[in-house]
Amino acid sequence: MKEIILVRFGDLVLKGKNKPTFINQVKKLLRSKLDGFSVNFEYQHDRIFIHINSEDKEEILKQLRFVSGVQSYSFVYRVEKDLEKIAEKAIEIIPNEIPLPTTFKVETKRADKRFPMTSTEVSQKVAGMVLPKISGLKVDVRNPEHILNIEIRNDGAFIYIGKISGLGGFPIGIGGRALLMLSGGIDSPVAAYLMMKQGVEIELFHFESTPLTPLESVQKVIDISKKLAPYMTRNKIKLHLVPFTKIHEEILKYVSDPYIITIMRRMMYRLAERYALTHDIQALVNGESVGQVASQTLDSINVVENVTNIPILRPVVTYDKNDIIKLSKMLETYDVSIRPFNDCCSIYVPRRPVTHPKVEYALEEETKLNVEKLMEEALENIQTLMINKNTDFEIALYGFEVKDAIEAYRGDKK
Ligand code: ATP
Ligand code: MG
Repeated sequence: MKEIILVRFGDLVLKGKNKPTFINQVKKLLRSKLDGFSVNFEYQHDRIFIHINSEDKEEILKQLRFVSGVQSYSFVYRVEKDLEKIAEKAIEIIPNEIPLPTTFKVETKRADKRFPMTSTEVSQKVAGMVLPKISGLKVDVRNPEHILNIEIRNDGAFIYIGKISGLGGFPIGIGGRALLMLSGGIDSPVAAYLMMKQGVEIELFHFESTPLTPLESVQKVIDISKKLAPYMTRNKIKLHLVPFTKIHEEILKYVSDPYIITIMRRMMYRLAERYALTHDIQALVNGESVGQVASQTLDSINVVENVTNIPILRPVVTYDKNDIIKLSKMLETYDVSIRPFNDCCSIYVPRRPVTHPKVEYALEEETKLNVEKLMEEALENIQTLMINKNTDFEIALYGFEVKDAIEAYRGDKK
């Protein structure tokens, strides 16, 4: 039988004037995610039917999980507009789709006004035919555990039970573009996901300090990017590798121990802001939360953020670590994040990091560095990779220097 999936929109139903833009974007996303599958789309004002012409139902469902702005979807069965046929189908699908015993009610919508019965009549008749055939099923019209939906339309009767939750949020692409500071940790990939789900396209910005940090820490961000790419409009994501080694070394050499992390983070923020402003990107995002580590007191955040003017978004700032971990497992970034390789913030941990830094002291420490020159050098040497879920870049196979490895890999792919 031909399968049909009914897709409903989420938040965007509420958004009056923007609604057409949002809906068009969801359509575009669905078309892009299902490119290559044999499907037809049928658009109605606040929902979409996907008619599947092949055996790819499971694969199609997997793709739908990556579409932000989709509130829920359901499998729909189409039969003739005939009560017997409708009841027969209901009797077939109920035991497969809902655990028994349970309570249910039938709800009917009649789009085809020529159909000779009212919606209530259809519901009552079908319920009456289904009930005696399925033991453990009881009607509860007030507070049913499940609803059997029937829609009488021009092209047939459509039946479905229940809803599968979609990603929710807003369709990606309608919320502008942000630069996400991606570490190899657990939090920043989750922050990335939350922004994309909110409709914001992202580019990933990673400060790499090889060989102070192992090449495997770069592999981690490549592998994390692969997991994030399918949420983007075109299923691919930019990963910028920012050479941070020189800055890292200078900081370790000249800055006094308690301020090492503070100055390192101020440099990261400065670089990210400058990149964003010169590339038409409207905000920075990171995985900071308050309290997790020394650098995440409000005083620290204040002194670090002090070097920028661009908006900085922190989607996980109030999240419980366990909730972040849950999301990172769902994203399949967790196993990558817990690989035991340090990035630049966790190596050479200062003996006495300052937890309540002061801007004056930070500025004083920075007089020991040539901030502008270090920044220019780093920005000039950014390496950008376009990553999708099938990217097969094993960096260690290509050499020990990030830059050389990327060049060799590019050469290989030509
Ligand atoms: P995460 O789990 O995301 O690494 P964390 O709890 O370990 O976060 P920090 O290491 O203090 O916290 O980093 C806070 C945020 O700073 C990260 O979430 C990330 O957005 C950014 N960040 C840290 N290190 C890097 C890096 N090497 N490159 C890019 N961004 C980084
Ligand atoms: Mg970290």
